[in-house]
Amino acid sequence: MTTVTSPAGGRQCSAEEWALRVDLAAAFRLTVQFDWHESVGNHFSAAVSADGKTFLLNPKWKHFSTIRASDLLCLDASDDSVMQWDDAPDPSAWCIHGRLHAALPGARVLLHCHPPYATALCGLQDPSIKPIDQCTARFYNRVAVDTDFGGPADEAGEGDRLASAMGNHSVMLMGNHGVAVTGATVAEAFEDLYFLERAARTMVLAYSTGQPLNVMDEALAEKTAAGWNAYRAAAFPHFAYLKQTLDQSDPTYKE
Ligand SMILES: [Zn+2]
Repeated sequence: MTTVTSPAGGRQCSAEEWALRVDLAAAFRLTVQFDWHESVGNHFSAAVSADGKTFLLNPKWKHFSTIRASDLLCLDASDDSVMQWDDAPDPSAWCIHGRLHAALPGARVLLHCHPPYATALCGLQDPSIKPIDQCTARFYNRVAVDTDFGGPADEAGEGDRLASAMGNHSVMLMGNHGVAVTGATVAEAFEDLYFLERAARTMVLAYSTGQPLNVMDEALAEKTAAGWNAYRAAAFPHFAYLKQTLDQSDPTYKE
């Protein structure tokens, strides 16, 4: 057992949970490096219990660049008393992430942020990613698009609504808002977020030329999307490499 003196009450956690904490902490630090963060907002979470109701979440208003593995809150989605803690989580994050993990058992990790290019795309009437290169085609027919943004969320109902909008997808473009990406592991969710922002960058750059897009036909787009399946496992060496760069620049994420 590794002892974790976390803000959630100095509880002990398993080696498995500790590894999850370290990976999630790395994801926060890397998000700053890639410039996908925004002030002290946005939230990443990871389910700890099998039913997803117990999950790790970043503390309220703590800058992503300073988050350590031991800082992550461990929350029970069914325990309202967490909001009475001195270090109570952001209420909307507690509602939404708790409900999403519970509603989507495969969504062990949930990354929500407002990266610049994807958010620009989400501000368009049609935020969909067109298959115009290999990276954009990775998301062909594989992204949920939520166009029912109703302002900042603070109710469990919004978590349920977003879970249903996500459906069986692992990536969601949230119209007028940002993105949500889920995965079985931090590495896989982070890889999708990485390619999603790159695809959005390609879309924004292509739109910016003012010239018509050369959109792949359905068969080619599907073939190209399916071709990515052979590269899904690249998420692990990529994330391991990115963690190595953190180990060299600032290993405090592992504390
Ligand atoms: Zn947001």
